[in-house]
Amino acid sequence: MNAPVLPPAGGCGGIDLRQEDGQRAVFCGLTGIVWLHRKIRDAFFLVVGSRTCAHLIQSAAGVMIFAEPRFATAIIDERDLAGLADANDELDRVVSRLIERRPDIKLLFLVGSCPSEVIKLDLSRAAQRLSARMAPVRVLNYSGSGIETTFTQGEDACLAALVPDLPREAPDAAPSLLVVGSLADVVEDQFRRTFAAMGIADLRFLPARRAGEMPAVGRGTRYLLAQPFLADTARALDGLGARRLCAPFPLGAEGTTGWLRAAAEAFGVSEETFATATASGRARAETALAAYRDKLGGRRVFFFPDSQLEVPLARFLARELGAELVEVGTPYLHRAHLAAEIELLPDGTRVTEGQSLDDQMDRCRAARPDLTVCGLGLANPLEAEGLATKWSIELLFTPVQGYEQAGDLAELFARPLRRRALLEV
Ligand code: SF4
Repeated sequence: MNAPVLPPAGGCGGIDLRQEDGQRAVFCGLTGIVWLHRKIRDAFFLVVGSRTCAHLIQSAAGVMIFAEPRFATAIIDERDLAGLADANDELDRVVSRLIERRPDIKLLFLVGSCPSEVIKLDLSRAAQRLSARMAPVRVLNYSGSGIETTFTQGEDACLAALVPDLPREAPDAAPSLLVVGSLADVVEDQFRRTFAAMGIADLRFLPARRAGEMPAVGRGTRYLLAQPFLADTARALDGLGARRLCAPFPLGAEGTTGWLRAAAEAFGVSEETFATATASGRARAETALAAYRDKLGGRRVFFFPDSQLEVPLARFLARELGAELVEVGTPYLHRAHLAAEIELLPDGTRVTEGQSLDDQMDRCRAARPDLTVCGLGLANPLEAEGLATKWSIELLFTPVQGYEQAGDLAELFARPLRRRALLEV
């Protein structure tokens, strides 16, 4: 058993926070390409990796038959690994061919992987060199390697790579609101309408839908994180003088209200205007959630660390649906970004940061939770042992943020319970 960790200055609410270290079971950061390539429509993600990397993103994204894909893998083969070929020359050749064939590409990401790190291929220099050669196509790089990143950290690395390239806001520009983290277009549009109803019209999103529409940032920028896994991106934005608004994440009615309220307070929106702008969405979300309270209320839920969404999801399940939290595992717990969430978790919630897979599996088996939220690799063995599971990756692929999606979010947790009940019958 690991010793409880003392809360850092600033507190960690009343949670029982522990840290674990050991074997992990989590995707690498390449996975983020699966949702990022749909978001920035004129970007292309070129993984510089192995056949394993190619299989990972191809199978995670599904085979796209009708559309030209916006990701690919430049395979590092035995000749590169043995140092018989100049990997930089090969990369230049692959990129030139790609840009010739695909004039629609305006932004190219070279995505590092375990093999590119092993052969010490300097992708940041390659990106600079290729940017100069391929202008006006912009070439950036980030790492999605399993050595450096887990799962959602790929998005963080990608957005952090965009920040130095963002246009700069004039020092005396009026305050603007920036929403940081990729959201489904439909969710962005809903938020745009709600912020407009609050009187906040200068609203920007990072990432933008097109490379040429990336938001300007400066001292007047106030930003809301839409995802809890964007530590490096936030640090880079802070470096440009932007200021983060402390808020819970927009999951469920309560989380969405808290998130919108943080912006309302920062932009001096009156209580009356805020209430008018949010009342109908909030009421719809609460009505949708009421239908799930008897399905999820009292159900015991165990989270394995995977997406970094675990703490906001646990807060949503416990407070809005009455679920009981057995253990909330998270790969990393960003104390500042999750401060508002931690405050809302029920007192005594066991939160485990990091992972020691065998120990955690033992605890899960002993607890026999009603629902286990985990990565794909753990789901099948746990299902075989009679435990209902939810793949955490689905929570990234499905639009779940905002009032209109609150019911869909609850449904994602209710479905495996329904399935398990049917199987038992
Ligand atoms: Fe595997 Fe590393 Fe490639 Fe990810 S980056 S698929 S962990 S080899």
